[in-house]
Amino acid sequence: MLFSDFKFSHCIRAVTLLGGILISAVAQSHGRAATVSNDVRAIEFPDTADYQTLTVDLHTHSVFSDGHVWPKIRVEEALRDQLDALAITEHLEYQPHRADILHPDRNRAYDIAADAAKNSDLIVIRGSEITRDAPAGHINAVFIDDANKLIKVDKPPADTSDVLAYYSAAKEWPAQKAVEAAHAQNAFIFWNHPYWTRQAPDGIARMNKFHSANARNGVLHGIEIANGSTYSEEAFQLALDYNLTLVGVSDVHDLIDWDYKPHDGGHRPVTLVFAKAKTAAAIKEALFARRTVVWFRNLLIGREQHLQPLLAASLSASPLSYRATTYIAEVTLNNVSDADFNLRYTGDYTFMNNADRITVPAHGQIKLQIKPGKRSKKLTLPFVVENTLTAPGKHAEIEIEVAE
Ligand SMILES: [Zn+2]
Ligand SMILES: [Zn+2]
Repeated sequence: MLFSDFKFSHCIRAVTLLGGILISAVAQSHGRAATVSNDVRAIEFPDTADYQTLTVDLHTHSVFSDGHVWPKIRVEEALRDQLDALAITEHLEYQPHRADILHPDRNRAYDIAADAAKNSDLIVIRGSEITRDAPAGHINAVFIDDANKLIKVDKPPADTSDVLAYYSAAKEWPAQKAVEAAHAQNAFIFWNHPYWTRQAPDGIARMNKFHSANARNGVLHGIEIANGSTYSEEAFQLALDYNLTLVGVSDVHDLIDWDYKPHDGGHRPVTLVFAKAKTAAAIKEALFARRTVVWFRNLLIGREQHLQPLLAASLSASPLSYRATTYIAEVTLNNVSDADFNLRYTGDYTFMNNADRITVPAHGQIKLQIKPGKRSKKLTLPFVVENTLTAPGKHAEIEIEVAE
């Protein structure tokens, strides 16, 4: 109570002293997001031996489609989560706020977000959500040049506030034409929530001719396997079968804080992108090269060749030592990532202080006491990393080498 009283009077004095200067500074910074340091909610994974590990959310909404916030708030949230890149992907055809926001320029949300991010190192990516009924469903195109070229409404309804009539008119333009228009802009194109129960009532993602043909022709490049609070084993299998990039997104419409409670240990799903540099071009190159791992709840989901370097960078072991006058080996496992690593030991030794299941907490460590039965200068400890998936139902396996 006292503290807040003090802050209030302090604030009043600052305003009085600075007078007009403060007002003009506020006017100039209107629409810019403040840089916020909040390490508690930062999404943190280490760089791998060969690449920078960038945290990217490729699917978000604002009031310019069916979201409920101004685009600046998306930037503010991304800064708080310390994302490296954020895509703004409004539905082009579904415009439920039409009565209030007519939105003739479909690049507007991106432009506002890019301006809000100007004083930060957040990369804002121009995108759109091409929106159709099944089988095409919803398709994101990111790294586009002009969203207006991805929509064509030949006969708009007379009543501009009739949202469903507008969607019906807009979806008449074939989805194939829209994805080809995005492809002509060299966009990275991915299939959104292919298991969405409104379009797949059993919640099972299945390939269809539209998406298989576009994947085969190099027009469809990725697929969401995690979206919001959902994850799909079937979508993961489709990604492997059709050689598509694995994508995990928030698809946030409300507030990240409400949906994921980052102050309480939660996080939005993100795509970890293994890039040669922190630039838009490098992120795009890495997405086309399929160098991603999806971070969803406490799961890391990716192809073996991308997950293993991330595990190697995240987990390390201290030098091996022995408790005096015993053959009990001691080693500390360190974790510099946001994941709680759930390890299942599959080797021949047993432990003094654990059974076979061990958790190395996020940004923490645990001490293992191993019973090799004799003093060896080197031990190999094999584990299954149960909070990872390299294929549906298959966990990554690692061997931690420890030496004196
Ligand atoms: Zn969608
Ligand atoms: Zn969406």
